[in-house]
Amino acid sequence: MIDFAELKVDALLVSGLSNVRYLTGFTGSNALLLLTPKSETLFTDPRYTIQASEECRCPVQIVKAGSLFIGAARTIGRKRLKKIGFEKARLEYEGYELLKDQLPLGASLKPLSGIIENLRMIKTQDEIARIRRSVLTNSEAFSSTLALIKPGTSESDLAAELEYQMRLHGAEKPSFETIVAAGMHSALPHARPTQEKVAPNQPLLIDMGATQNGYTSDMTRTVFIGRPDKRAKSMYEAVLEAQLAAISAVRAGVTAEQVDRQARQMLKARGLEKEFVHSTGHGLGLEIHERPRIGKRDKTRLASGMVITIEPGAYVRGFGGVRIEDTVLVTNNGCEVLTPTSKDLTVL
Ligand code: ZN
Ligand code: ZN
Repeated sequence: MIDFAELKVDALLVSGLSNVRYLTGFTGSNALLLLTPKSETLFTDPRYTIQASEECRCPVQIVKAGSLFIGAARTIGRKRLKKIGFEKARLEYEGYELLKDQLPLGASLKPLSGIIENLRMIKTQDEIARIRRSVLTNSEAFSSTLALIKPGTSESDLAAELEYQMRLHGAEKPSFETIVAAGMHSALPHARPTQEKVAPNQPLLIDMGATQNGYTSDMTRTVFIGRPDKRAKSMYEAVLEAQLAAISAVRAGVTAEQVDRQARQMLKARGLEKEFVHSTGHGLGLEIHERPRIGKRDKTRLASGMVITIEPGAYVRGFGGVRIEDTVLVTNNGCEVLTPTSKDLTVL
């Protein structure tokens, strides 16, 4: 699984909590995992003694006082490990300093990145089942809220309702800050819900995700309150075409950038390529943004078992925006769109 010889390290100290969870099953908020070719040790604090013994598939050391890095450094010394790899994108500088200070003489640190993240790209059957469940919960929360959308409702009221419905349908929490963007706000790809009210004849962009059993989902729908005008309607059609084109390009063996290019070409044909200001999608799993990135210059080859989003959009300042996003499972012959929610132009 992890090739220590190739990485030229004796051990890997995993500090990213989602990576720790992936490898051990531990869901607590304070943990380090020390991996060597022959052993795995989880370090956590006394608050998690019971939880760790129930959740972990590996030996656990409870660090009674002080930082977990001190406990880990002690074990590194005892095992006489010399070259210690650490996750450079997942370790804060303070933790790094502490670790460096505590390491026994002769031991050194080597920054590494993406080791566990690359393993996480291909989901197991159990992970796929969890993602399916969270995708369904997310769509159920969306449908339950749709009936409540009317002129006069504020963006933040709708966001609260969506998140409430997620929980009612079994989610632990939203996978990210729910985006509800009415009218011109929809031109901001990552708008925050405000007190602004939904008004007639405007687009309403909703981007939401529900985390259930630890796994995320991600969906965007743009609906219209009252008939959209010609320009808004043609923008919607263009984005939908781009989304469908990208989905039809997804299959094991193609590169992430090839899928991205499909969406971009469709929008270019409609004169909207400059309005598409982000990448076509991203992997998801324990975290909402995982590898691969479905964007320009990502040469990762898609493989069966990856779960990614396809979410092209177009955003026009002072007018509004459209984004359509599904969560899809990559298969050998193509892909399965997990999101069941309709993408037909919806007028409320
Ligand atoms: Zn997304
Ligand atoms: Zn999204």
